[in-house]
Amino acid sequence: MSHGCLIENNTWEVVMKIVIVGAGYAGTMAANRLARRARGAEIVVVNPRPEFVERIRLHQVVAGSGTAARPLAEMLDDSVTTRIAAVTKIADGSVALSDGGALEFDRLVYAVGGAPSAPEGAVDVGAPESAAVAAERLRSLSDGAAVDVVGGGLTGVETATEIAARRRDVRIRLFSDAPIARSLGAKARAQVAEVLAGHGVEVVRQRWSGGRDAALTVWANASRVGELALQSGLEVNDAGRVMVDDHLRSVSDPRVIAVGDGAAVPGSRMSCQAAIPQGAYAADLIAADFTGRSHKPYSVAFVAQCVSLGRSDGVVQRVHRDDSPASLWLRGRTAAAIKEQVCRSTVHTVRAGRYSWKPGAA
Ligand SMILES: Cc1cc2nc3c(=O)[nH]c(=O)nc-3n(C[C@H](O)[C@H](O)[C@H](O)COP(=O)(O)OP(=O)(O)OC[C@H]3O[C@@H](n4cnc5c(N)ncnc54)[C@H](O)[C@@H]3O)c2cc1C
Repeated sequence: MSHGCLIENNTWEVVMKIVIVGAGYAGTMAANRLARRARGAEIVVVNPRPEFVERIRLHQVVAGSGTAARPLAEMLDDSVTTRIAAVTKIADGSVALSDGGALEFDRLVYAVGGAPSAPEGAVDVGAPESAAVAAERLRSLSDGAAVDVVGGGLTGVETATEIAARRRDVRIRLFSDAPIARSLGAKARAQVAEVLAGHGVEVVRQRWSGGRDAALTVWANASRVGELALQSGLEVNDAGRVMVDDHLRSVSDPRVIAVGDGAAVPGSRMSCQAAIPQGAYAADLIAADFTGRSHKPYSVAFVAQCVSLGRSDGVVQRVHRDDSPASLWLRGRTAAAIKEQVCRSTVHTVRAGRYSWKPGAA
């Protein structure tokens, strides 16, 4: 196995091998930033499909109001090698691939995101394949059909309102055993409730137990991650997320840096708002590691929670560094425009590999 160090002209003396598992927000950011900061290193991105999926637009795919996939080749720096496969095992300095191959690594960025979690009878909004299935089923529904959306968090709210804005002929129920959009401040929450009611979405404050008369049930309740880390012997928390130290290194194998939805980062939440700086941080950490420089612990401030409520309405909640709601919030077309701009900027940001941030709450 190789070890690299930077020489004067900023290239790696011996080729350092970096494997990035997953080309979502975190992995793509890490790859493109490393391409600039670790020139000469061998960077391989492993992803099961040749597309970058804008996961934050999958509710639009379900409702038929947008698309989410774009060619991965457009998203990654030319110096990055792409391998279309899934990593099936992370071993001691190497990974096994679903195509029968293997790759060695000096550093690995674990950026696999979450995994579909819909129970039997429901279709997950959070994966491109299942979102396409939900879209197809929704298209086939006739007047008055019932659509259940399960999950009262921001993804559930976005999904219910996106469908409601496009399909006024179906009856939508939003199931949640917790308060709807509870991460928002009271005023923004009240606004969300008003918009849901305005669209005729029935809020059902109970746990979804299946078996009702819905023609389509959309699962918007991300709770699961895949089993790759667990099966590879990395220490994970109860939800299967990789346990990390304050530099996002796996506590079991410091060569593995875990980021995004698949990592148990204290004070973080599953969001591309967290995944993008974590991917950037992983790149900076690797570049620092191999030049023998120390790197500060990971710390990133949250900025806002931006929620689309259909294409022409929304809510933006300013938050404190720890993601708790601040007093400033916006609604209506202005908020919708900000949210759309945020979605677009995630693509530009990870493609450029450029991101700067303020430190998080102490
Ligand atoms: C409908 C919806 C709306 C959302 N809206 C927002 C929002 O407005 N703001 C926000 O901050 N967050 C939002 N989120 C959450 C956000 O999408 C996720 O938190 C974010 O995608 C996490 O990024 P990631 O890079 O960790 O994972 P992902 O973006 O999921 O990428 C993971 C990648 O890893 C690949 N992969 C998985 N397993 C393997 C393997 N074994 N080998 C190789 N590759 C693998 C996957 O195919 C995928 O390409 C939303 C989510 C949904 C579903």
